[in-house]
Amino acid sequence: LSSKLPRVGTTIFTVMSKLATDLNALNLSQGFPNFPTDPALLDLVTKAMRAGHNQYAPMPGVPLLREAIARKTIDCYGVSYHPDTEVTVTTGATEGLYAAITTVVQPLDEVVVFEPAYDSYVPAIELAGGVPVYVTLTPANNYAIDWAVVREKITDRTRLVIINTPHNPTGRVWTRDDLDTLAGLIRDRDIFVVSDEVYEHILFDGRTHHSLMTHPVLQERTFVIGSFGKTFHTTGWKIGYCLAPKELTAEFRKVHQFVTFSVSTPMQYALAEYLQQPERYQSLPSFYEQKRDLFLAAIAPSRFTFIPTEGTFFQNVSYASITDEPDYDLAIRLTHEIGVASIPTSVFYEPNAARPKNDYKMLRFCFAKDDDTLLQAAERLCKL
Ligand code: PMP
Ligand code: GLN
Repeated sequence: LSSKLPRVGTTIFTVMSKLATDLNALNLSQGFPNFPTDPALLDLVTKAMRAGHNQYAPMPGVPLLREAIARKTIDCYGVSYHPDTEVTVTTGATEGLYAAITTVVQPLDEVVVFEPAYDSYVPAIELAGGVPVYVTLTPANNYAIDWAVVREKITDRTRLVIINTPHNPTGRVWTRDDLDTLAGLIRDRDIFVVSDEVYEHILFDGRTHHSLMTHPVLQERTFVIGSFGKTFHTTGWKIGYCLAPKELTAEFRKVHQFVTFSVSTPMQYALAEYLQQPERYQSLPSFYEQKRDLFLAAIAPSRFTFIPTEGTFFQNVSYASITDEPDYDLAIRLTHEIGVASIPTSVFYEPNAARPKNDYKMLRFCFAKDDDTLLQAAERLCKL
C-alpha cells in the first residue's frame, strides 16, 4: 500500500501518554485534565440517557445544543449564528477541523499554516491534496506574527489560512491588530479561514479572546472551531462545533455527514443544559491562571527559562541552559529518569526544515493537573 501520509507516524500525544502510563510517570504531556469533571454535568448525561436520548442525533447536532451554542456565542462575542443553518456539532474539534479543511481545500491549493502548529492541520491539508505553506513563529519575539512574511506567502494559489488563538503550543493570543491585518491581506482574494478557538475561555492576565467572528470581513469567510473538551474538562467526550455562515455551513455539512454523520446524543443534551449557566465557562481563566502561576512559581528556581503563557493550559519552557540534546530525546529521557512526561515542541514544526537552533530547545508542559501533581513535577524538574 502506498502511504497517503508518508511523513506521519503515531501522534506524539499517544506516544508520550503511553510512555507516561507504562512508566507510571507524572503526565504533563498530552493536554487533558487529571481532575474530575463536574458531577452536575455527569448527572445530566445520566438524565439524558434515562430520558431515552440514546439513538442517532440529527446530523447537524441536537437542536437544543445548537441553540445553546448560538446563545453563548452572542453572549461572549455579540455575533449571531443561526442554530439551524450555521451551527454544526462535531466529534470534537478534530473532526470539525478535518471537515472544514477538506470542505475548502482542492488538490494543489495552498494553505498558510503558522508553525509551530497543532498536529492535525497538515495531515488534513495533505489528504485533501493541498500544499501547506509554513509561516514560522519564533520564540525570539515571543511568537509574534511577522506580517511581511505572511504577505509574501500569500499567492494566487492560496485558498485557506489556518489560525489558532489562543495558540497550542506557545500560548500566543492574537490581537485585534492581527485580525485587522489578516483581513486587509485577504479581503480582495478568494481565501477562506479556519480558526481553531478551542482555548477561547483560557486566557490570562486579563487578556481578551479576539474571535475571528468579531471581525466582519473575516466572519463571512471563516469556519470557527470550538470544543467542549477544553472548556468543561471532558476531553474524552469528543464534542466540538463549527460556526460558519450559511453557504459555508451547507458545504461543511456535506463533508461532516460522511465523516461521522452525527455525534453522541446524550452528551449533547447534557451540554445543552449545562451551558445555561455562563459562570461555568466564565470561571475558567482564573481557575487556570492559578494553576499556571503555581507551576511557574514552582519551576522558577530551575534552570528552565520561560515567558508566562498568555493562554491555553500549556507552558513552553526552554532547556537551552541545561542540555544540548534534541527535544524528543530529552522528553523521553525525562519520562524515564525523573518520571515527568512532556511534549517535545519540534513535532509542531515542518519536518526536515532548517530551523534556528533554539526553536527546538523547548518542551511543552500541560498544567491542567491537580496542584499536587504540578508541585511534584516541578520539584523533580528543579533537580536538573
Ligand atoms: N485544536 C487544538 C489547538 C488542540 O489543542 C486540540 C486538542 N487538545 C484540538 C484542536 C482537538 O480538540 P478535540 O479534543 O475537541 O478534538
Ligand atoms: N490537543 C491535545 C494536546 O495538544 C491532544 C489531543 C490529542 O491527543 N489528539 O495535547
